Amino acid sequence: MNILKDTFGRRFPYIRLSISDVCNFKCGYCLPDGYKINKSDNRKFIEKEEIGRLAKALSELGVSKIRLTGGEPTIRKDFFDIVGIIKKNSGIKKTVITTNGYKLDQIAHKIKNSGLDGINISIDSLNSKIFKKITGHDKLGEILKGIEKLLKFNFKNIKINAVLLKGINDSEEDFKAWAKFIKNNKIDFRYIELMQTGDNLDYFKRYHISADKFINYLNNNNWVIQTFGKDSGPSKNYINPEFKGKLGVIAPYSKDFCKSCNRLRITAKGDLRLCLFGNTGINIRHLMQRDDQLNELKELILSQLNYKKESHYLEIGETGLTKNLSTTGG
Ligand code: SAM
Ligand code: SF4
Repeated sequence: MNILKDTFGRRFPYIRLSISDVCNFKCGYCLPDGYKINKSDNRKFIEKEEIGRLAKALSELGVSKIRLTGGEPTIRKDFFDIVGIIKKNSGIKKTVITTNGYKLDQIAHKIKNSGLDGINISIDSLNSKIFKKITGHDKLGEILKGIEKLLKFNFKNIKINAVLLKGINDSEEDFKAWAKFIKNNKIDFRYIELMQTGDNLDYFKRYHISADKFINYLNNNNWVIQTFGKDSGPSKNYINPEFKGKLGVIAPYSKDFCKSCNRLRITAKGDLRLCLFGNTGINIRHLMQRDDQLNELKELILSQLNYKKESHYLEIGETGLTKNLSTTGG
């Protein structure tokens, strides 16, 4: 039973857990100058034992799915130990990750063997020059090889996300390239609308474009909208019988986006975030230290839900505590 419920009647079967703020990429909308240590916050990233206790508490609160994210989650040396702890002992049904895929080619077999239930890989363009321009890294070839391996190992539930950027990856040719990519591969591709954060206002003003451009393409090319599952993400998915994969959009500025919110976030330093763009974020880590704190941890998380607001206020430029998405996991 899912016990996590807010004052607006929304339930929360889905947690996004950041396990590291560190990232090796320099995506223009996120960390354009690369990762920099926050000198005013010397707390370490949560340890795997703490994550194990947290996952157990969350599962007892009815959470069924945890997404490991970051920063770049696979940068952690104990990444597969963390997956193992959540998979083995917590009761969480689905453990999935979001990654930039920088070493997917090398770790595809480990991903398959880890028992992970799904992977979201961020690829902003299938054109290697544009990919490099956005991320600062010439890694597209390796990432695509990694995906080929995952498909060969019959890994289920592969998704690709790209941030939609005006004049960079939003042409009909880009849309067609993605449609071609998923025609014979059972992979879902989604465009995420660029979000404004504390750090990226100039970038946002220059490159933000509504996801309607892609939705119009879908509507004009026989793609039909599909409904959601209860712990599914925020994407609106479209299907077409001629294609094995789906196409989709994540449009946080769209009306009613927050009504279907079913997820909470926990940062790599153990702060509970009720909303990606909220101003509230209490630390819950002190209750992840011992097994006998389980009930206290559950009560603290439960009580915090009373403070979850109805909506983000992004449309009026309120980006909350989020300087960039590497600290809150996108
Ligand atoms: N490093 C991993 C990755 O890139 O997949 C995981 C963390 S990243 C913050 C998670 C997702 O957030 C990525 O798909 C990324 O493209 C997206 N993202 C980051 N900043 C964003 C922004 N300002 N607007 C929209 N999406 C953003
Ligand atoms: Fe790193 Fe992901 Fe941010 Fe890109 S979006 S800089 S890969 S954390």
